[in-house]
Amino acid sequence: MEIFELIESTEHEQLVFCSDKTVGLKAIIGIHDTTLGPALGGTRMWTYASDLDAVRDVLRLSKGMTYKAAVAGLNLGGGKAVLIGDPHKEKSEAMFRTYGRFVEGMGGRYITAEDVGTTVRDMDWIRQETRFVTGINGQGGSGDPSPVTAYGTYHGMKACAKFRYGSDSLAGKTVMIQGAGNVASFLAEYLTKENAKVLLTDIYEDKAHKLCERLGAQYVNPEDVYSIECDIFSPAALGGILNDETIPQLKCSIVAGGANNQLAREGEHARQLADRDILWAPDYVINAGGLMNVASELRGYDREGVLRQAEGIYDIMLNILNRAQRDNVLTIEASNEIAEERIRKVARIGKYHVGGPRN
Ligand code: NAD
Repeated sequence: MEIFELIESTEHEQLVFCSDKTVGLKAIIGIHDTTLGPALGGTRMWTYASDLDAVRDVLRLSKGMTYKAAVAGLNLGGGKAVLIGDPHKEKSEAMFRTYGRFVEGMGGRYITAEDVGTTVRDMDWIRQETRFVTGINGQGGSGDPSPVTAYGTYHGMKACAKFRYGSDSLAGKTVMIQGAGNVASFLAEYLTKENAKVLLTDIYEDKAHKLCERLGAQYVNPEDVYSIECDIFSPAALGGILNDETIPQLKCSIVAGGANNQLAREGEHARQLADRDILWAPDYVINAGGLMNVASELRGYDREGVLRQAEGIYDIMLNILNRAQRDNVLTIEASNEIAEERIRKVARIGKYHVGGPRN
């Protein structure tokens, strides 16, 4: 496919290529939709096999951000950027500051943040050249988003329990968490406090064992994570883990977790889960707390406010589940529709002329 065909077929507004050979910069910024506000999304650094792979990735990721922001009720559009290169070998101050100049040049249409392969330090470099970056260090910065992501995920999980079991209490429920990283450990704490039975795994066994010890949780081998009997399976590690091989193994009634892009193939695997009567919480909805956290930095970071906002994922999720049931559609279809509806309706607001005569 040609580049413009790709842009048109994914309904993007803009694709920006930024290059400086001297500092090793090859960046692509994708802006999907700015109806609701400036496009906010992280900058990913990755060794793409080809430039076209990088283009496809940025188009996919930026579109995802439009839906995430829209469903979360944020006044933000969808955008994302990719840097082509090895994050372990090819980073430099000059590269990130040069990239920052390109972001500044977009005049605020795109606001960047951390993502896979980039760190808070990289954001601090970018910040030297542009205001349009979030997730920075120090005063006014929102810091690590994972506690808020976990808090939102916890409330989204409770909404799923309410829908499926008639009560949102997780006390006595067995929750299998895949991963013992940042999001997983905060989530495990909330669940333990509510007297849920927490099962944990990680490919780094030590990490999982330490967390288990601290919280009194039970360790599970990584390869047993799909087939173990539990009420709720909570992916908090990798993407693509709900696939042809894993879905038939699941012995749970709810899948609700913070990991991004859980479905290997969106429509198909969402359907497979529904056919097995497993309620799947759309990942971009339940993990929107992280986006809420960085978005708050734009208005002057307010921790209490952002935690209240993340609690709202409960109502957002319940609304999606009720709608999916009412319309007999998949949960992902219901949440996509809600996002598109909000964008369509908010777009109308701009049509009303306010103020005096135009020049
Ligand atoms: P993290 O790197 O802190 O934790 C991920 C953990 O998963 C690591 O400990 C890793 O060893 C483990 N892991 C990797 N492969 C595994 C496997 N096959 N089996 C078991 N464990 C495995 O990352 P994080 O920040 O906690 O993010 C977790 C997920 O949530 C990611 O998918 C991320 O994209 C998503 N997410 C995170 C945030 C956030 O605020 N951090 C926001 C939105 C979405």
